[in-house]
Formats: sequence, C-alpha cells, structure tokens
Amino acid sequence: MNEQTCVIDDKPWLDARQPPFIRIKNVTKKFGDFIAVNNVSLDIYRSELFCLLGGSGCGKSTLLRMLSGFELPTSGSIEIDGQDMAGLPPHARPTNMMFQSYALFPHMNVEKNIAYGLQRDGLNRQEVKQRVQEILTLVQLQDFAKRKPSQLSGGQRQRVALARSLVKKPKVLLLDEPLAALDKKLREETQFELVNIQESLGVTFIVVTHDQEEAMTLSTRLGVMDAGEIVQIGEPREVYEYPGNRFVADFIGSVNIFDGRVIEEDTNFVIIRSEEAKIDIHVSHGVSCTPSQKVSYAIRPEKIQMCLKKPKNVKNLLKGRVNEIAYMGNLSVYQIELEGGKRVRVTQPNTIRSDEGAITWEDEVYLWWDGAAGVVLTS
Ligand code: ATP
Repeated sequence: MNEQTCVIDDKPWLDARQPPFIRIKNVTKKFGDFIAVNNVSLDIYRSELFCLLGGSGCGKSTLLRMLSGFELPTSGSIEIDGQDMAGLPPHARPTNMMFQSYALFPHMNVEKNIAYGLQRDGLNRQEVKQRVQEILTLVQLQDFAKRKPSQLSGGQRQRVALARSLVKKPKVLLLDEPLAALDKKLREETQFELVNIQESLGVTFIVVTHDQEEAMTLSTRLGVMDAGEIVQIGEPREVYEYPGNRFVADFIGSVNIFDGRVIEEDTNFVIIRSEEAKIDIHVSHGVSCTPSQKVSYAIRPEKIQMCLKKPKNVKNLLKGRVNEIAYMGNLSVYQIELEGGKRVRVTQPNTIRSDEGAITWEDEVYLWWDGAAGVVLTS
C-alpha cells in the first residue's frame, strides 16, 4: 500500500469514492418561529469521532437529538448506514445516546446498570454476563462491579454510563457533553481514555461539546456551529490553522485580529494595511481577494515572536509595551500595547526555570512574525 492510499484509508473524507456512514441532508429544526438548526448538511464516516462544537444555544444538542430520534427534523433527511431514519423511534435506530447527567439507576450496582438494557432486549443470562464482563474490562471497572453509583467518583460514573451505552453495540454512539461533570484534570485524562475506547471498538462517536480544547483533543474532525448553522467542518489542525472566517478564528483558541485593507496583491504575496496597528502586513502567499478589499488578518499568539532588541531583516514588525503578563506554568501570556493603543496577545513557552533576563512589565518590546504565520479572512 502506498503512502497516499494509507492517508485516504485513515481519512475517508478525503476520498470522494468512500460513502459516508451518516448523511445529514438539509436538516432544519424549528421550534415555533425559532430556527434552532438551519439547513445543516453533514457527512460523517464510519469509525469517526466527530465533534459538534459551538457556544450555548447554537443548536448542537438539537442536531444530536434529531440523530437519536428524540427530536424530529422540520425538514431534511437523516440516513445512517444506508437507512433513512424518517419515522423511526429512538429504540429502533442504530444509535445510542449517552446523556450529560449519565442517567444511572441509583439503586442498581454497576453491573446491573450495565446489564439492564441487554436484559430488556431479552438476551440470555450467559450472554448478558459475558458482554457485561467484556465492557467492564474495556472501561477498567472490573473491581467496581458491585458498587452503587453513589459509591463511585465522577470519572468512574462517567465510565459506567459509557459502558452502559456501548454494551448494546450501537453503530453510532451520541454523546452530549460527556465530560462536563468532571473537573479539569480528570476531564483531560478521560479524553484520552475515550479516544482509546472509541478506537478499540471502531464505533462511530458523535460528541457535542462547547469546549474547544476538548473537541481538538477528541475528534477526527469537528463541525463548528453558530446560530443553527455549521460554519466550518475540518480536522482539528485544519480548523485551528486555517479558520474559514472571523467567527471560527475567534471561537477556536485565542487570536489577534487586525482589520485592514489590501493595498497590494499578487499571485505570490499580498500586503494588507492595518491603520489600527499602523502596519503593512506582508502575507507570503496569494489570497483570493480584490484590490483594496477590506479584510481581517488573524494571527495566533504563539506565532508571534517577541524580543527586547530590534530584529533585523523582518517584514512584519511592531513595537509596543508590556501591559500584562499571566504566568501559566508551561507558558506565559503577554499583553502588549501598541503605540496606537491596540493590544496584542503573545504567548511564549517557559523553557527555562529562571526568570533572569526575562521580559517583564513596562518593557518596550518588538513583535514580529513570518509572512506565512497568519490567515487572511475575507468573511
Ligand atoms: P447548550 O450548549 O447550551 O446545551 P446547544 O447548542 O446544545 O446549547 P440546543 O439545546 O440545541 O443548544 O438549543 C438550540 C436553541 O433551540 C436554543 O436557543 C434553545 O433555547 C432552543 N430550543 C431547544 N429545545 C427547544 C424546545 N423544545 N422548544 C423551544 N426551543 C428550544
């Protein structure tokens, strides 16, 4: 197998011949006059871990609930594994939903919580026992089988809920904010566990989250939602490094935005004049734009270099004063005020322990970046 085939096998969305596993076509959901999901079309492939990411109220849970059958589309269609979902109630769909609250039965122990759905489906005792054991091993809860949910930590309860949703072997697992109840450290650990479990089972996961770091860590691809619409779909790196518009650039990670106007454009470079930062920004590649078009230039804080001595032979150079410093341990965040008052955020990794000679409050600093470090946004 050559390298190209390998990449495509790994990333079926890059191969036009691969049929999607889930096809959401022009789906709209209205509640009265209010449009919660607006004409969304989205293809998801088998074994993907796809995240729907967006702020509160953007319609991500409503979209998930339409996949599960708990909510019906006002218009549009949903197909899973070649089957139209129209008219199918939740229990008849090849999906299972893991709720944010976990919805565990408090009076049943872990084993019984997990076995419940299988028993209701009429599986024989031996098979139920075997499937419960397998899934307990997968989520590493073998030693907790006899405990009640109240005798478990938040992370363990989360794993019981996951085991209970997976034991019925759904084709698609829908997870609504699956890690929201966990504290930050546990959430980060659990993110990796979730990815490992998903990869070992190969079940397609669709995860709703408002947490962009979580979406970046978990997903094969993510869909960013705003006001009922999907505004960008892509792999985490793609969405972070090449946001399609200002909303995505701002929503995913932290970003400096310079408003400006194109003053020179060529197939190999573009120059953007930003009055607010008093700089002509050199972009070292072509951009599809018109002469004097208004654009925004977005650059991530970690892509900006900072030093006390004026650097030589750099194109994108700014001068400012250190206004704020936040020490975060692994990195420090600097807020630099430019001469015209605009503030720029810069992050630097703390690679040495000593702060001797480090840039500090009120220092006059130079900022610069490479012509390929930022993104020109035309919308
Ligand atoms: P959150 O992260 O806050 O849960 P969300 O992106 O999941 O947000 P949804 O729950 O999908 O948002 O809701 C989208 C919009 O639809 C919201 O404005 C919400 O108030 C509205 N909405 C959801 N369910 C109903 C309903 N049953 N009746 C009326 N409006 C609803």
